[in-house]
Amino acid sequence: MKDRIDGHTILIGLMAYPIRHSMSPTMHNSAFVKLGLNYAYLAFEVENDQLPDAIQGIRALRLRGSNISMPNKQKVIPLLDKLDPVAEMVGAVNTVVNDDGVLTGYTTDGTGFMKSLQDEDLNIIGRKMTLAGAGGAGTAIAIQAAMDGVKEISIFNRKDDQWENALRNAKIINEKTDCKANVFDIADQETFKKEIADSYIYCDSTGVGMKPLEGKSLINDPSIFHKDMIVYDTVYAPRTTKLMEVAEEANVEHVFNGLGMMLEQGAEAFKLWTGKEMPVDYIRELLFNDDK
Ligand code: NAD
Repeated sequence: MKDRIDGHTILIGLMAYPIRHSMSPTMHNSAFVKLGLNYAYLAFEVENDQLPDAIQGIRALRLRGSNISMPNKQKVIPLLDKLDPVAEMVGAVNTVVNDDGVLTGYTTDGTGFMKSLQDEDLNIIGRKMTLAGAGGAGTAIAIQAAMDGVKEISIFNRKDDQWENALRNAKIINEKTDCKANVFDIADQETFKKEIADSYIYCDSTGVGMKPLEGKSLINDPSIFHKDMIVYDTVYAPRTTKLMEVAEEANVEHVFNGLGMMLEQGAEAFKLWTGKEMPVDYIRELLFNDDK
């Protein structure tokens, strides 16, 4: 630590609650050490009511920036000076960059998802995606995929408090991109099956499969999948979800958990703050090479 932190160290924060379980501090600090960058990344337990002071603190203490997570991703927007156009479309910010007191908000979850597929040499541009969920992760994925050139997205959601969000996402995509977006009630299982059969990628962004729904999946019948497709679960704890097991039973060629997305959303933020590429292969090996 004596050699690591000095009077010149540049601080980056993470503002969320709860946050002590996050892998982000270890991920970013390991990357700083690996590249010999004089930065440090710390997690701060910040809820909505302390957020204005905490954001003002970025300016006052001249932090280079901060990650923002739940419950602050939407609440942070009016506290910033500028918003990246994709963050504006998504309606959420997970990364703040401080340029001499001017704070700009970005969202890197969607780019992280798209980059994680590129890392596997998979290209979904011009193809069709079926996406379950329209919350924070689902919104970022749908909008970024549409911006990047995915041809069609069929969004499935429950008729819960995120249903309106699913409709909003499809409207934005249809108005502002060349992608065609459709919204369906996930209770319509026949359409769900048909749309998946017609898609190159099925992505689940609902969190079904992690605690408290560990061992559960929205799809339990392997015959719904076809072999040459991608099945992508945004969940990364556990490393293998029930959905992934069902896909593997169907001999689906490309089955992923959310670790790649998690790593690449961090790498995008790292680049925004430092201007440098995160050593992703090194970090993947260091943090994620386990059987959890
Ligand atoms: P959220 O609460 O904002 O959205 C959840 C969505 O899932 C909503 O659309 C909701 O309607 C739907 N949903 C919830 N329970 C459901 C059920 N039982 N059946 C059908 N639909 C259901 O949550 P979020 O922030 O979008 O996170 C969702 C998941 O994505 C979590 O598992 C989270 O860990 C994961 N995530 C991963 C990354 C990553 O980097 N890999 C990043 C962000 C989120």
